[in-house]
Amino acid sequence: MRQVTLIPGDGIGPEITEAVKAIFSAANVPVQWEEENAGQTTFDSIGELIPATLIASLEKNKVALKGPITTPVGKGFKSINVQLRQKFDLYSNVRPAKTTKGIETRFENVNSVLFRENTEGLYSGLEMFDERLQISDSVARITRVGCQKIIRAAFAYADKHGCKKVTAAHKANILKGAGAMFLNEFHAIAKEYPHIQPDDKIIDNMCMQLVIKPEQFDVIVTTNLFGDIISDICAGLVGGLGVVAGANIGDDMAIFEAVHGSAPDIAGKGIANPTALLRSAIMMLHHIDLKEEANRIEAALEATLANKAECTGDLGGKASTMEFAQHIIAKL
Ligand code: NAD
Repeated sequence: MRQVTLIPGDGIGPEITEAVKAIFSAANVPVQWEEENAGQTTFDSIGELIPATLIASLEKNKVALKGPITTPVGKGFKSINVQLRQKFDLYSNVRPAKTTKGIETRFENVNSVLFRENTEGLYSGLEMFDERLQISDSVARITRVGCQKIIRAAFAYADKHGCKKVTAAHKANILKGAGAMFLNEFHAIAKEYPHIQPDDKIIDNMCMQLVIKPEQFDVIVTTNLFGDIISDICAGLVGGLGVVAGANIGDDMAIFEAVHGSAPDIAGKGIANPTALLRSAIMMLHHIDLKEEANRIEAALEATLANKAECTGDLGGKASTMEFAQHIIAKL
C-alpha cells in the first residue's frame, strides 16, 4: 500500500473527495489515504490555515491529492496554494487539456500539456509600496536555474511521451531581462532534444493562436503569470475548470489538485462534478507507477463522460456527485 496525503479542502472539496475515494476503493487501488486538511475549515476549527500535521504528512508521504481550498479574504492571508508550492519547491505546474468525447466545446482535437513555472515571477512575493510617493512595485524575479528547471521538465515530458513540439510563451521583446533569459534558456535546452521541434510565441500572439487554432499546440512552457492565464484558456478550450487536472511537481514531492475553486454557491448540495479531482488523481497514479489502475479508471471515466445522462448538471446531466461516481464504478 502506498500512503498518500489527502487534503479534502473547503466547500465542495469534501464531496468530490468522497467520490474519488469511492472510485479508488471500488477499483482496488493500493493507496492508503492519510487525511489532513488545510484552509478555511481548518482555520475555523483550530485557528491554523496550514497545520503542522499536514506539513509533516507531506514531508513523509511526498505525494498528495488536494481539493479546492478557500483562503480567507483579508490582510495577512497569503494564498495557501502559493505557500505550499514555494515551501516544497513544486516548480512545475502541469496542466493537461484534452478534448473529451461527450463534452461540448467550440474546438475539436485539442491535446496540449502546459508547464507553468510555479514559484517565481510575479508570484515571488517581492512587493514594495512607497507610501509617500504612492508607488507600488511588484517584482517579477526569475532565476536562470528556475528557467532551466521548468524548461527541462517540459522537454523531458515531451521526450517521454513522444510529443513533436514544445512551444515557449514569452514577452522577451518587452521584458528584456527576465523574458530574454527565459527565451535564451529555452533555445539552449532545445538543442539537447534535436528530435523535438522548438517553437516560441510572444504571449499575446500565443493567446490569439490558442483560440484560433489550438490543435497546433503540443507541450507549452512558460513563466508563472503567463502560465496562470493561459492554463485557464486551455481549460476553457476543453470544457472548463470543472474537467481539467492539475499537478504541482518538484524534484521530490508532488501535489495533485483540482484547479477549480471551492464553489461555495453549490457546496453541500451534492451536485458538484468530481471530474477535475478524479483526473488529477489519475495523473497521481501515473506518477506513482500505478499505470494499470490509472488506465482502468480513466477508461471508465471517459465512457461515463461520453453519456451526458450519467453526468452532473454542469455537463448537462442530472446525476448527483455520488450517482456520477457510481456510473464510473459500474464501468470499472
Ligand atoms: P470556483 O471555481 O469555486 O467557482 C466558479 C463557478 O464554477 C461557480 O459557479 C461554481 O459553482 C462552478 N464550479 C466550480 N467547480 C465546480 C465543480 N467541480 N462542479 C460544478 N461546478 C463547479 O471559483 P470562485 O467562485 O472564484 O472561488 C471560490 C473560492 O475558491 C474562493 O474562496 C477562492 O479563493 C477559492 N479558490 C481555490 C482554488 C484552489 O484551491 N485551487 C482555486 C480557485 C479558487
